[in-house]
Amino acid sequence: MRITAISAEPVSVKLNEPFVVSLGVIDSAETVFTRVETDSGLVGYGEGTGVGFVTGESTDTVLSAIRAFTPALIGANPYAIDHLHRDMDRILVGNGSAKAAIDLALYDLMAKGAGLPLYQFLGGVNATVETDQTIGLGEPEEMARHAREIAAQGYHEIKVKAGSDDEQDEAAISLIRLAAPEAHLKVDANQGWTVPQALRMLQMYAKAGVVALEQPLPYWDVDGTAYLRTRSPIPVMIDESCFTPYDASRIVQRQAADLINIKLMKCGGIYPALQINAIAEAAGVNCMVGCMLESRLAIGAGAHLAASRPNIVYADLDSFNDFDDSTAIASAFELEAPYIHLTDALGIGVSLVG
Ligand code: MG
Repeated sequence: MRITAISAEPVSVKLNEPFVVSLGVIDSAETVFTRVETDSGLVGYGEGTGVGFVTGESTDTVLSAIRAFTPALIGANPYAIDHLHRDMDRILVGNGSAKAAIDLALYDLMAKGAGLPLYQFLGGVNATVETDQTIGLGEPEEMARHAREIAAQGYHEIKVKAGSDDEQDEAAISLIRLAAPEAHLKVDANQGWTVPQALRMLQMYAKAGVVALEQPLPYWDVDGTAYLRTRSPIPVMIDESCFTPYDASRIVQRQAADLINIKLMKCGGIYPALQINAIAEAAGVNCMVGCMLESRLAIGAGAHLAASRPNIVYADLDSFNDFDDSTAIASAFELEAPYIHLTDALGIGVSLVG
């Protein structure tokens, strides 16, 4: 199989409601769909979503990076995945979302070529993934109302954004605890705290029964996170500090995390995600597959990844729920809250319908 053509197209998606985190407000999203054609007649689909305040990318940079990668990819065999990532890394460092847009299409092709759904191509046996739902920052009462709604929909895992105002965070978690008494609550501070602040907040969250605390400190403060972890009554998860397998290696060497949040858009797709997961697993660290603002296409790929590895114990694959229904994608997973059921469709199982 040889790659004969690559095209990339920006797609605008509206969010049903603005989503607020400690780093900023998001009310609409743009994503990029890629289509990789081959001489076998098989077509692979990928997606790259630039989120500036996390990866430094935008729709424009994703499109121009894909254009920069294209000459190195034309004529190549999609199964040469390691070589193709090395080629992309030689052309541009970083640019994880643009690399993911290519990587996902290559995995879609590889699995289709093998006649398998992607999770089976990756070695998985279980087609079902449980996902959480995330509550963005807002008035504590409003956040609690959202928690009650999510719990009533059947979700057991709820992720709560924090990190902009300590008093609001404390009020929110106690109201959410009451609104969803059975839920497993994780808290994501999105780099919002200092070390002393995080120490205080950890004690408060431990009393509220929170099961994991994500990215308490700025992305560059891995040593601070390692220190916090020695004092933390709650498992500490790293997100924005881990983009690459090299980051993962440094994090496990410094014993800075109990959990790592792998995102396809940060690391550049499934190939580096598997490397990060293997490093974590070898060090006794579990992983979550998370997302930023991807549509059902990349969310489906994330679900296939989560379904393929027992070391991936959590999935935070909820962004597509916030999208207006007009987004033109049909994907082969079905959501039966809180479960994402992957189907027998080949590859990622996605078709673009409009
Ligand atoms: Mg996070």
